[in-house]
Amino acid sequence: MPALQFLGTCAHDYSKRLQTDCRDRFDPDARRSSCALLCGHILIDCGDHTLDSLRIAGIPHGKITDLVLTHLHGDHFNAENIRCLAAGRSVPLRIWHSAGAAMPELSCELHPMEKAVTYSLAEGITVTGLDANHDANVHPQHLLFCIGGRRLLYATDGAWIQNSTANYLRRAKAPLHTLVIDCTTGENEAEWRLGEHNSIPMLRVMMPALRAAGITDDNTRVYATHLAPSLHKSHAETAEILRPLGISPTQDGLEILL
Ligand SMILES: [Zn+2]
Ligand SMILES: [Zn+2]
Repeated sequence: MPALQFLGTCAHDYSKRLQTDCRDRFDPDARRSSCALLCGHILIDCGDHTLDSLRIAGIPHGKITDLVLTHLHGDHFNAENIRCLAAGRSVPLRIWHSAGAAMPELSCELHPMEKAVTYSLAEGITVTGLDANHDANVHPQHLLFCIGGRRLLYATDGAWIQNSTANYLRRAKAPLHTLVIDCTTGENEAEWRLGEHNSIPMLRVMMPALRAAGITDDNTRVYATHLAPSLHKSHAETAEILRPLGISPTQDGLEILL
């Protein structure tokens, strides 16, 4: 079975414990910058802490063949770390990014992605970039992966689901197997980030709506990620709050089968 390993599940408010007792280990309450590894060789985002996450997970840089970017905020895109990841390779690292995003010099093979166009990453693995409701200056996209027929939507950062993205998913008439979704702002209803991130109350509204639209179904596994420690309770408490919604919180190091 293909797998997704979460290497970073934080928003942009990192714990000070990453410099002390969590320097060399994962901890559910000291999250690192948002990042995940698909099928052992496709990295989703490379931000502030990704090199540390790869070190802790024991993943050599040479194993990474492709980097797919959700957008260019620093917690997802760190040019210096990408150069380090790409250094000393016989075959250039392939970077997949939203078309229109001006990329710095990275000594990598760049692949601009047009929205709603499907690209092949490897045999049996495709990716499609879909509109995301997030800061337009950083060229955001949600990522729809299809891995041997298993469909995964990686939907962070962003608030709600854009109508164009919802329509694209509805037209497929194939419920997602896995949904990884932004849940930055916890239970706080008086939250100014409404226009670019989800809260738990927003997910409470969205879950039945996604089912009604046929985008998810009873078998879809839903994971909340991009969790801001300053706005959430502990990981254990968050798991209890999300359980009635049928959602599991992610944590750094967690590996799921797709
Ligand atoms: Zn972010
Ligand atoms: Zn962002």
